[in-house]
Amino acid sequence: MIWADFHNHTTFSPDSVTKPRDLVEALVAHPNVKVAAVTDHDTIKGLTPVRELAQPYSDILIIPGVEIATRQGDIVVLGVQELPPKPWDVEDIVDFARATGCITIAVHPFRAFGLGDEVADSGVDAIEVYNGASSLQANHKALVLAKELGLPEVAGSDSHEPSQLFSVCTQVQASLDVEEILKAIKLGLVSVSPIGKSVRF
Ligand SMILES: [Zn+2]
Repeated sequence: MIWADFHNHTTFSPDSVTKPRDLVEALVAHPNVKVAAVTDHDTIKGLTPVRELAQPYSDILIIPGVEIATRQGDIVVLGVQELPPKPWDVEDIVDFARATGCITIAVHPFRAFGLGDEVADSGVDAIEVYNGASSLQANHKALVLAKELGLPEVAGSDSHEPSQLFSVCTQVQASLDVEEILKAIKLGLVSVSPIGKSVRF
């Protein structure tokens, strides 16, 4: 059983001030959360520096990800080795993810730049039902939709500064292994609940 934050931005996103070092140090210091996805906006350039900094620590894990601004709304892809080819339509991203062993998450579906009701036909693997930067109402709508569609529910802080890291997290029935964690998300072996001192829900 592990705790993971599946949605984090580093300074490789233009709107984040979290340095790769901040993210790694927070993981090392946190008593429970030892897994974090790097999901910068439309780039995977931050992955190499974060992974290099994390490399000496055997008890933490970085999940390579990206938050893609598709024409229909934002979608997070986890397990990426490369950026999907453009044009970035949600169906193409989902197809790309399936073909490359990645998984897709409809993030903050009911906030600005979310997929909204298009989630239903999108083929995503999971829905972010707790987003650390969304309103309670928007998160609740996402939770209701996930239940309606029977899709796995995950959480992500959507952190853009160190103080926001791990504000909400996902409990995953998996060990410290990227492939195992992605498989567990797909199978719904995940649950969301607030932990730590910065609980928002
Ligand atoms: Zn984000």
